[in-house]
Amino acid sequence: MLRLIIICSAGNKYAIAIKKENGHAKRVERKVHYIYTFYTNYSYTLGVHFLTSWDDGYTLDLRIADLLDRYGLQGTFYICPHAQHGAQMLSREQIASLSGRHRIGAHSMTHPNLTEIAAADAEREISESKQWVEDETGKPCTAFCYPYGAVNNAVKNAVKEAGFTEARTTEDLAFSAVDPFLQPVSLQIAPFPMRMRFHPLWKALDPLGPLRSRYRKLRSIGTPYSAMMSWVALAKSLYIHAKNTKQEFFHLYGHSREVEKYGMWGDLEDFLRFVRECSK
Ligand SMILES: [Zn+2]
Repeated sequence: MLRLIIICSAGNKYAIAIKKENGHAKRVERKVHYIYTFYTNYSYTLGVHFLTSWDDGYTLDLRIADLLDRYGLQGTFYICPHAQHGAQMLSREQIASLSGRHRIGAHSMTHPNLTEIAAADAEREISESKQWVEDETGKPCTAFCYPYGAVNNAVKNAVKEAGFTEARTTEDLAFSAVDPFLQPVSLQIAPFPMRMRFHPLWKALDPLGPLRSRYRKLRSIGTPYSAMMSWVALAKSLYIHAKNTKQEFFHLYGHSREVEKYGMWGDLEDFLRFVRECSK
């Protein structure tokens, strides 16, 4: 399916076509002299493709899915059968139900750092997780997410060999991808600009770690100081940046367990509503 959107900017008309190529949304833009009508069945917000993905497969992912549904947004859920942090994980029935509403990706079988285990073990983790997701959902599983974002060439090649067509990392503040097997993200939902719960030593040494580690990059893309005061302000500012500078995508990722732990459900809904509003 193809969607054509007309953006009138300073008197100019632009047709933006969104094509699906190898499972990826691809944007083609051309200056035109006529107004086209448009149609679609593809999730796309005006000016920037909104992507969102959620890691690990916690039961709370269902609450994320409900929020995405409320704002007409599609997400990818990278699930893993291994329970983490003592949290409740999605049941088989819940996985099947979720796969009817959103895309399900693989995230290994036991959530190891794949760069730190034997090559044969990493290959098994990757290929078995593909099979597991396909068995649970009854659908092809083409997307993989590296646990902890840890990837090297051998791991990347193992993901390719297993038959995946794309893989996501945790590199953030990115708005386009060069390699489909090293897809970065734009922003994680997590406390910002200060840590909220962390090791006491970190608290003393680096309370503003989330801001400090990103400050230079944020300034380089023109993020105003006012947008560095809260997560919601930052998310909206970066989304507008991606939209105005015609980036390939804006990719929000996170863990439902952390949204709960840090009390960020309101922030998440505020931002999703904003994304929805921007797409009208
Ligand atoms: Zn994970």
